[in-house]
This record gives sequence, structure tokens and C-alpha cells, in this order.
Amino acid sequence: MYKVGITGGIGSGKTTACKVFEVLGIPVFYADTVAKEIMCTDVLLMEGIKSTFGKESYFEDGKLNNKHIAGIVFNNDEKLAKLNALVHPAVFRAFDAWEATIPSTVPYTLKEAAILFESGSYKLCDTTILIIAPYEVKLKRLMQRDGVTEEQVMARMDKQLSDEEKTKMADHFIVNDEQQSIIEQVLALHREFLKSAKKSNSTNA
Ligand code: ATP
Repeated sequence: MYKVGITGGIGSGKTTACKVFEVLGIPVFYADTVAKEIMCTDVLLMEGIKSTFGKESYFEDGKLNNKHIAGIVFNNDEKLAKLNALVHPAVFRAFDAWEATIPSTVPYTLKEAAILFESGSYKLCDTTILIIAPYEVKLKRLMQRDGVTEEQVMARMDKQLSDEEKTKMADHFIVNDEQQSIIEQVLALHREFLKSAKKSNSTNA
């Protein structure tokens, strides 16, 4: 099935844009949400985390000890890369299982991931969308939504590729600056994806 990857910096409006696609009947795989879930359900992943970061990575009730993991990977790129090397393949497995449940009448699916480009998962998509919003707009949204300071927002942004770098890698763009209509931009892309998916699905049939 035709796959569209969608990404953007924190607070750019990924979830908001995905909700519009969902209204149009397009199923969305929320990779970041799934990644958190499978850390407590995917046995292979849990074993990997325990053997890499210690048994104390999980509480006795099976819940993830976020504090323990964050304490190890925060400010340690090598350990973070090890965690990602465990989590990313598990997310790919979860995506494949999810996609297998999608009826063939659905024209295309969307994969939402904050680190679509950083994780390499964009390579498994037929095309990609980058959501762009000015720094001040993202800052205002995140301070309002999460009750965080500008320093905390900047620390989170520092962990991701810049919009400039991601722009070079993306195929399509949505500008979510609260001036241009996000609904109209999603509709235009939806029409385009319907055409591309039809072409691709008939070639692969
Ligand atoms: P994160 O990376 O943190 O998950 P995100 O990229 O998914 O964020 P959203 O959660 O969609 O971003 O948007 C961040 C906040 O900004 C939300 O509270 C959302 O309601 C608000 N927001 C997004 N786009 C708009 C818009 N066009 N107009 C008004 N508010 C918006």
C-alpha cells in the first residue's frame, strides 16, 4: 500500500495535520505513541532493553522505569543510539502488523513520526511531508500546551534535525503558521496522494 511519512519539529502541528487526514478517511500510524506502548508490550524489545540497560529498566508490574532510562540516555548519544537501535526495528514491526489490518479499499496510509528522517524510516515511505512553522509560533504553542519554558523547548528542539536540513529531504510541505489554511493544504496533498497511490497500486497489482 502507498505510504506517506509525515514529520515536523516539535509543536509544528503534526498531530493537528494528521487529524485532518483522518477526517478524510486516511488511517494514521502514530509512531511516537506506538514506540512508547511497545516498550511495555513487545517481548523482544523488552528483553533487549533489560539486557542493555539493566533489569531495573522495568518495575515489577511491567511498567517502564522512564527515569532510569532517561538518566542513562540523556546527554549520552552513544546510549541513545543503542536505545534507538532497539526501538526502531520494533516500531517497524508494529507498523507492518498495523498495515496488514488496513482494508485494501484504503488508498494510502500515513506514518507520523517526529524523527522520520533521523530514524531512517522515511526510506520505507513512498513520499514524505514536512510541517513547517516559525520558531515563535512553535514556542507559543508548546509553552501553552505543555506549560514549559523557552529553555526547555530549545533543549527539545536541539535533539532534532533543523527544519533547514529536513527541508532538503522532504517531498511535500505544509506551512502551519496560522496564516495559511492547514485544511486547504491537506486537501491539496490528499488529492495528489490519491492520484499517486492509484498509479502505484495499479503498477504493484
Ligand atoms: P509534538 O511534536 O510536541 O507532538 P506536534 O507537531 O504534533 O507536536 P500539535 O500537537 O499538532 O504539534 O500542535 C501543537 C499545539 O499547537 C497543539 O496544542 C495544537 O492544538 C496547536 N496548534 C497546532 N496547529 C495549530 C493551528 N494551525 N492553529 C492553532 N493551534 C494550533
